[in-house]
Amino acid sequence: MNPVFADLPVSVFEVMSALARKHEAVNLGQGFPDDPGPEDVRRKAAEAVVDGWNQYPSMLGLIELRQAIAAHYRHWQNLTLDPESEIMVTSGATEALAGSLLALIEPGDEVVLFQPLYDAYLPLVKRAGGVPRLVRLEPPHWRFSEEMLARAFPPKTKVVLFNNPLNPAGTVYGRADLELLARFCEKSGAIVVCDEVWEHVIFDGRRHVPLIALPGMRERCVKIGSAGKIFSLTGWKVGFVCAAPHILRVLAKAHQFITFTTPPNLQAAVAYGLAKSDDYFETMRRDFQRSRDRFTAGLRTLGFPVIDAEGTYFVNVDLASLGLNEDDESFCKRLVVEHQVAAIPVSAFYAAEPIRSVVRFCFAKRDATLDAALDRLAGALKRAA
Ligand code: PMP
Ligand code: GLN
Repeated sequence: MNPVFADLPVSVFEVMSALARKHEAVNLGQGFPDDPGPEDVRRKAAEAVVDGWNQYPSMLGLIELRQAIAAHYRHWQNLTLDPESEIMVTSGATEALAGSLLALIEPGDEVVLFQPLYDAYLPLVKRAGGVPRLVRLEPPHWRFSEEMLARAFPPKTKVVLFNNPLNPAGTVYGRADLELLARFCEKSGAIVVCDEVWEHVIFDGRRHVPLIALPGMRERCVKIGSAGKIFSLTGWKVGFVCAAPHILRVLAKAHQFITFTTPPNLQAAVAYGLAKSDDYFETMRRDFQRSRDRFTAGLRTLGFPVIDAEGTYFVNVDLASLGLNEDDESFCKRLVVEHQVAAIPVSAFYAAEPIRSVVRFCFAKRDATLDAALDRLAGALKRAA
């Protein structure tokens, strides 16, 4: 069997969700909202199942969805994308990532990744034969410097895999960070796979800057999005890939033999949703921001050292300053067993030299869920001290 997969542990999200079920815990581990998601978008999907097209759609995705993606990114990110040759619909961002990495990497190619990294990245890079070069980011700011990039980037880099906003850190990288990264990508000739699934989930008036919009990056970026995150419907698995025609053409060849297509009814509903008014997206952000603030304040009252979240569904606490006698993993195990709250140990997002003091909580929940978790967390720090 292939050792990349044979030697892999089960994903931390699956492990923590199973533990949460077993211990009847409030699950703030795996990132998903406990709201059912926008009703009109779900109704569109239901209508499309009953009355719409249920056979294979076009391999690149329904043309009305590709047009909606182009219009959406023109409106929100000032991008000009050709729906015929620069946009492809995939079965979630996960398929987009897998297909991009398989299509771009040849065995032995060097690939730059940033830790903490989303759990799918490294196995996919290794399966494609890539040789990982890791940039290690640290709390509380999780930012990279010119020296860090200079150390990590080989003279010839085939691919860079960059996640912005960053899960699990909740960091949103702005123009200055992106310009620095872009310089290194151009110099080393890399194509950048930009995982931007959290692009709409950003707070405090921030605007998402897609790396593909920076000078010189149009020809070397693969931009990945996910309707699951945009519409708080994480189970939908409708993703999008945007890239210049000469890149997209090759990515489409990988896609045609991974999934070939994505359910057409969900695609139709996503096309409808992407055209919703600004008000929908702004309200969605405001609501998540309010949950972030409620949960952050509650954690601080209990004595948790919270790192401010700029985007995503996640807020982190850094236990280092508390002098506890346990690492993030034992803390999370104790939390779920003794306090019935599930969280994610951030060391699971490191492949080497893990940060072992940071714990991630998902705050994309109803007030009652967050309050129940906070009640259960009272005392969790005292007993560990
Ligand atoms: N990339 C990142 C950074 C994510 O956080 C997630 C899921 N939360 C994905 C990719 C996967 O997205 P999808 O569910 O659309 O496959
Ligand atoms: N992206 C989600 C998270 O970070 C989990 C996705 C999954 O379970 N694979 O929590």
